[in-house]
Amino acid sequence: MKFANRMNEVKASAIRSVGKIIAQKKDVISFAAGLPDPSLFPFDEIYGVTDKILKENPAQALQYGPTQGHGPLIDKIVELLQERDNVSARPENIIVTTGSQQGISFCAMMMIDPGDVIITENPSYLGAINAFRPYQCSFVGVDVDENGMIMEELEKALKENPKAKMIYVIPNFQNPTGKTWSEERCRKLVELANKYNVMVIEDDPYGQLRFKGEKVPTLKSMDTKGKVISLGSFSKVLCPGLRVAWICADKEIIEKVELLKQGVDLQSNQLAQMQVCEFLESYDFEGHIEKIRAAYGRKCNLMIETMKREFPEEAKYVEPEGGMFVWVELPEHIDANELFNKAIEKNVAFVPGESFYPNSDCKSSFRLNFTTTPEDRIEEGVKILAGVIKDCLND
Ligand code: PMP
Repeated sequence: MKFANRMNEVKASAIRSVGKIIAQKKDVISFAAGLPDPSLFPFDEIYGVTDKILKENPAQALQYGPTQGHGPLIDKIVELLQERDNVSARPENIIVTTGSQQGISFCAMMMIDPGDVIITENPSYLGAINAFRPYQCSFVGVDVDENGMIMEELEKALKENPKAKMIYVIPNFQNPTGKTWSEERCRKLVELANKYNVMVIEDDPYGQLRFKGEKVPTLKSMDTKGKVISLGSFSKVLCPGLRVAWICADKEIIEKVELLKQGVDLQSNQLAQMQVCEFLESYDFEGHIEKIRAAYGRKCNLMIETMKREFPEEAKYVEPEGGMFVWVELPEHIDANELFNKAIEKNVAFVPGESFYPNSDCKSSFRLNFTTTPEDRIEEGVKILAGVIKDCLND
């Protein structure tokens, strides 16, 4: 088969192979998934809004719509950005995308030439790394501490890589590390992006899921020179199956994305956009998110308290203030892929960290998700995992 050269860059993701192994076994306590808790999906409300739309407006819901997105939904996104994030966007600064995954993909399509350098947190979101790869770029991963990306290292990377085109970051409750950036780091990032004339993609699907600590202003709210493309999504605060998300950026960028979107999928799902819009109109969205925050906060606390009691001191982690993940770092000689093989024999799963590093340069960490496992199994799973880690350290 004569595939394009760019297909040489496309690889199967580790999460899929982990998923296949888990699917072959029964009764696994899985901390591997990256999914929201489905018991928190607003089933009755979605049923209600769908019924209303199909009774009152069926032709519009089932017809083609504008590429930029459903107008009333765009107006609601503008309001949300103003109220929550202090971002003064206008409708021309927004385009609705099919998940923020598509937003990442559009940024790649729009910005990356072969040979460009993309700077990410080290580690970063696997789905973004995989969206960038086909565009034949290389990656520079900048290390992260408990306050976010280390700015001295970012500046060094920018100086050393004149072909740096974009900095892709997840400042709130990052996937995979669960870490949050301090306001100081956020301000410095925007300053450096302006100084070195690089675009920033701020991917923020978890920003509303803060269950403790102080909210940090978004990068977009600090952006005075149009350098930040911000991505938001309804996946983690409503449900991912509707695939409704958005890009907020300068008008010039939105117009380019609109042209690309015409060639990719014409528009995002019209019915789904109207469902989200009607939900925001008819129900208490903030109250709904509050329920998710409370449930995730409880589960995270249970996981962390059990880790504090059971994990050996060699296992290092930062307690998340929101989101869905905890990241565990082990001494360098431990290979988390081998740890996974031992844990799955005892019916516990997680995602080994290697594939979250764009240059695969670390094997000794792993990601735990706390949102999908029922509360009564979190403690049991963490205890088993602690035993497996201790065995590996003693080998
Ligand atoms: N960005 C990050 C950091 C994510 O973790 C995810 C989903 N896991 C996405 C983007 C994609 O989300 P969506 O459902 O909006 O496409």
